Amino acid sequence: MKYISTRGRAPSLSFADTVLTGLASDGGLYVPESLPKFSVEEIRGMAGLDYRELAFRIIQPFVGEDLSDEELREIIQRSYKNFRHSAVAPLVQTDTNEWILELFHGPTLAFKDFALQFLGQLFDHLLKKRGERVVVMGATSGDTGSAAIEGCRHCDNIDIFILHPHNRVSEVQRRQMTTVLSDNVFNIALEGNFDDCQNMVKASFADQSFLPDGRRLVAVNSINWARIMAQIVYYFYAAVNLGAPEKTVNFSVPTGNFGDIFAGYLARQMGLPIDQLVIATNANDILHRCISDNDHSPKPLVHSLSPSMDIMVSSNFERLLFDLYDRDGEAVAALLADRSAPMHLKEGALKKAREVFSSHRQDDLRTVEVIREMFESSEYLLDPHTAIGVEAARRQRKSSQQPMVCLSTAHPAKFPEAVARALPTQKIPLPTHMQGLFEREERMRVLPNDLAKVHEFIATALA
Ligand SMILES: *Cc1c(COP(=O)(O)O)cnc(C)c1O
Repeated sequence: MKYISTRGRAPSLSFADTVLTGLASDGGLYVPESLPKFSVEEIRGMAGLDYRELAFRIIQPFVGEDLSDEELREIIQRSYKNFRHSAVAPLVQTDTNEWILELFHGPTLAFKDFALQFLGQLFDHLLKKRGERVVVMGATSGDTGSAAIEGCRHCDNIDIFILHPHNRVSEVQRRQMTTVLSDNVFNIALEGNFDDCQNMVKASFADQSFLPDGRRLVAVNSINWARIMAQIVYYFYAAVNLGAPEKTVNFSVPTGNFGDIFAGYLARQMGLPIDQLVIATNANDILHRCISDNDHSPKPLVHSLSPSMDIMVSSNFERLLFDLYDRDGEAVAALLADRSAPMHLKEGALKKAREVFSSHRQDDLRTVEVIREMFESSEYLLDPHTAIGVEAARRQRKSSQQPMVCLSTAHPAKFPEAVARALPTQKIPLPTHMQGLFEREERMRVLPNDLAKVHEFIATALA
């Protein structure tokens, strides 16, 4: 399988090289040259499979010659062994034909573990084979950092540096990162905001001369193709468990960078019977405006009760644009290059998007109400991101006959502030494996918002 850039001007790469790169050299994102397709018969054959075996069937065609079947099976086994639920991604019914897909049973209590546990194992395997040691550098507003650290902490051929904005992530989120005391894990608390962290990572990728000879940076953010690929699996898993391919199944997805829901779109393109994909956003609503009004202009960032979706521009949307523009890289490059006017999709492209996607924007007030209402009706505790997805599903669903699956992207204990507003007397204990988090030793370095200082810290740590 070959991978090509969404902007049409970068060399095509193998699966392994795609995984070990950041952006394509033309500024685009890598996507597979063609998608594997599953027949109705093949999807029927997925019924009742263990999550890991299903993951193997979905992922194998994307990998090509770069991993043997045995190697891939081994990587998948290791990726999901630290999940605290033997179903890995269990479904819970919350209303008539409404289901929650719980994606928070991984080590850091957010769905990002599905992709980053896998990515860590994949990196380790590919790097050992090549005899190469790399440096992972990433910025986080909370969930990505801890999931990336958990994914890479046991990788012999990786040193990982995660930048978070000092005093601007929740205590649970910070401790999930800083209490990992492995020698190859480095937490930098930057005296700045999330954008400063991200700019510093971008600048470091652009000029890597601060690294010791023979080392290079590798990306773990959601532009990495392997993250999207690993997320396709749970759409198949949920749908097959609810009766696909005989039944059509719909999904509602709390969205930030458009990574998670794009995986659902790919599942549909691969043959899974999905009629509707609902984009659920908070006040940072660029995707909702794009689908409902063809308005794709960036607006200032709003800090919400669902901070993992606080973004101004969704990087993975470019992968969808590539399809909406009939995989014409030149057209995508032209659309994104013209920054003089806000981006407008051409009529045909918007029409195609609307055949699959509908969207909803929700403010914090309503999110708190939804958490309370759901607890009162079903005694089910939602995290604030999931609450947005549930309400979006209820408002946007077209068919009451088809199952609607709401992706639950985080455990409520990870975002206690929103839950406490909704249910002030409700206790939300941390899951067993995380009890003791508040007593564990922390390690991090506070650094000024100064590129040279950060580079000096990294170079010293690697020396
Ligand atoms: C990252 C994250 C999201 C958004 O996911 P995208 O793939 O960026 O759309 C939603 N909810 C939670 C809890 C997250 O950590």
